[in-house]
Amino acid sequence: MADRVNPAGKDKKGVFFAKNKKFMKNGTGRERWTDERNDGEKPVMRDGAGKSVMRKSGEKPAIKDGAEKPMMRKSGEKPAIKDGAGKPVMRKSGEKPAIKDGAGKPAMRNSGEKPVVKNVSGGLSCPVSRMCGGCSFTDCSYSAQLAVKEGKVRELLKGICPVMPITGMENPYYYRNKIHATFQYRKGGEIVSGIYQEGTHRVVKVDSCRIEDQTADAIIGTIRSLLKSFKVKIYDEDTGFGLLRHVMIRRGFSTGEVMVVLVCASPVFPSKNNFVKALREKHPEITTIVLNVNDKHTSMVLGERNIVLYGKGFIEDRLCQLTFRISPNSFYQVNPVQTEFLYGKAIALAGLTGKERVIDAYCGIGTIGLIASANAGEVIGVELNRDAVRDAVLNAKRNGITNVNFVNGDAGEWMVESAARGLTADVVLMDPPRSGSTEAFMKSAVQMKPQRIVYVSCNPETLVRDLKVLKRLGYQAEAAYPYDMFCWCDHVETVCLLERLSN
Ligand code: SAH
Repeated sequence: MADRVNPAGKDKKGVFFAKNKKFMKNGTGRERWTDERNDGEKPVMRDGAGKSVMRKSGEKPAIKDGAEKPMMRKSGEKPAIKDGAGKPVMRKSGEKPAIKDGAGKPAMRNSGEKPVVKNVSGGLSCPVSRMCGGCSFTDCSYSAQLAVKEGKVRELLKGICPVMPITGMENPYYYRNKIHATFQYRKGGEIVSGIYQEGTHRVVKVDSCRIEDQTADAIIGTIRSLLKSFKVKIYDEDTGFGLLRHVMIRRGFSTGEVMVVLVCASPVFPSKNNFVKALREKHPEITTIVLNVNDKHTSMVLGERNIVLYGKGFIEDRLCQLTFRISPNSFYQVNPVQTEFLYGKAIALAGLTGKERVIDAYCGIGTIGLIASANAGEVIGVELNRDAVRDAVLNAKRNGITNVNFVNGDAGEWMVESAARGLTADVVLMDPPRSGSTEAFMKSAVQMKPQRIVYVSCNPETLVRDLKVLKRLGYQAEAAYPYDMFCWCDHVETVCLLERLSN
């Protein structure tokens, strides 16, 4: 079999290209790179009338109370495999537990640091929450919300594996490092910005949001105020007339770098140099401005073409002591405070000793694999989005990491090809989008005979489905750890450890 399969070629920049690279199809049948984020963001969706609408998944949670208790665990310690009828744990935003491995290399954080336990009793107190619909837990305390989320994971994983206490945030506000805004004319020509009201194509005016970065919100306000004087017309979804469709802003919380992406229906932006100058005068913190061209009738926010108007066209941020570049179309976790804890847990569960071959599937810009590489023999990252893979390769270079390679292609296809040519792995780390993984991926993963699989999931429903498949294939889920990455929204992230059953 091995000679039939040529798993990947390598280009000059060191990017591997998987054979039979496949594009995903979106709802309109057009080709696109997957832009499906698992970041809890509100997708632009279409209602029956073909209008763009922002929708949330809706139902009001049952409110239960949950008093927090600290969960203490030592660095690298195996999880206690029993069902902790657990209480949520709170993590503090600024907490930076630097964990060094024996060789003094930066290692990953794990769950060993002492949690700060504090009751965040207030609700969201957002004046537009009812109209906006982006958040689900608007009327209950944060601790009650954590208890609901933990309960949901516990319920779904009943009979599959124990669920540990959810890890919450000490300060669950203004945590999103990425925001989108859309614009609309009101009667009299006033321009408002915000998000589409649930089930409609009316933009709910949101001048400041309790979960979004405040610098980003202020920049959106400035852009809105500049549009008229620069004669920038707002794009109309129905007529296709106008220019500006969305604005996306990303801020590196630890570097302070700010990227503004103007998503436009055409590459021709009136007086673009003066617009950039006026925006930068008000916001000197902006480090790059990009014009993204989205000329398709699509529900995807971003198009494929980026024109750099100012700066380097990407931002950098630091996570777990490494520096990562992030391009406009690349995925990057939206809650970096919680991400450090999530990654720390995922890598601790991988039980690395420095020798292992690790596969980081659905790797995005390479974050998990690059952080894990300090404690692994070799890491192979696989990712569908071409821009993300380019970032990942440059991220390895930027951090002086030489034991990691990246493959650009469909993770399932690459796994099938690689397993067929006899590739083995000691650990498979997988972090698929909300839709979860595929049977083909999982069948091939088990053919590689990893001792452990660490599954990072942003959707507990597809996690359960996939854990059942993996069980059938000989991998037992040992424990699951929920993380609150999307405070006030109904998504919940979970890390799950699976071990290989002996034959
Ligand atoms: N592990 C990364 C990314 C997780 S998000 C991080 O923590 O940042 C899921 C990633 O899977 C996205 O980058 C998305 O582009 C990618 N993806 C989606 N479908 C894929 C597929 N079929 N094959 C490979 N990657 C895919």
